Amino acid sequence: MIKIGVTGGIGSGKSTVCEIFESLKIPVFHADLEARRLQNRDSLIKSQITELLGADCYNQEGLMDRKLVASRIFTDKALLTQMNQIIHPAVREEFHSWILGYPEAPYVIYEAAILFESNTAADFDQIILVVADQDIRINRVIARDQVDKEQVMIRMANQMLDQEKIKLADCVIDNNEVELLYPQILKIDKSIKENGKIR
Ligand code: ATP
Repeated sequence: MIKIGVTGGIGSGKSTVCEIFESLKIPVFHADLEARRLQNRDSLIKSQITELLGADCYNQEGLMDRKLVASRIFTDKALLTQMNQIIHPAVREEFHSWILGYPEAPYVIYEAAILFESNTAADFDQIILVVADQDIRINRVIARDQVDKEQVMIRMANQMLDQEKIKLADCVIDNNEVELLYPQILKIDKSIKENGKIR
């Protein structure tokens, strides 16, 4: 099975891009959603997170307090690394069993905000990077999540710069709302289906 990674910084438009791939009937595994599911439901992961960040990270319903966790891990690189070491292997394992459900698909997509940063890129045949200018991304996230600029900037600071990621990606989708997304995606989809790769 051809495995394509789709990544991009916060607010770049990864999910929007992946919705278009899904409309083309391409299965998409949403790594960040899966991570959230595991953080709330998987007892081993929950106990590891509690041990790392404290019992107050979970409310009485057993759900993770994402704001509290974010305030701890996004201001402490060591904690962020350890948190990723708990989550990423578990998400990857889920992805490998999820793939088995799509034997007929021409290819599958793994969508994640961090791929290069988490050293996961080697798991994929090719990587698509979604980019948009920083100001546009910030304004999108403020509008989408009702957060302030500072909270968005803290998250951005933990992600690699687009200039660095562009060098590592096989293909870049421009989502600055100048070039239309659909034609860019149709071209990639056609190329993978015909040649087994983006270019
Ligand atoms: P995150 O990493 O925070 O999950 P993301 O990269 O998945 O973000 P999206 O959720 O796809 O980004 O996009 C962020 C916001 O910007 C959304 O509200 C989305 O609807 C909007 N958006 C994305 N691309 C476009 C576009 N081309 N035109 C208009 N709005 C857009």
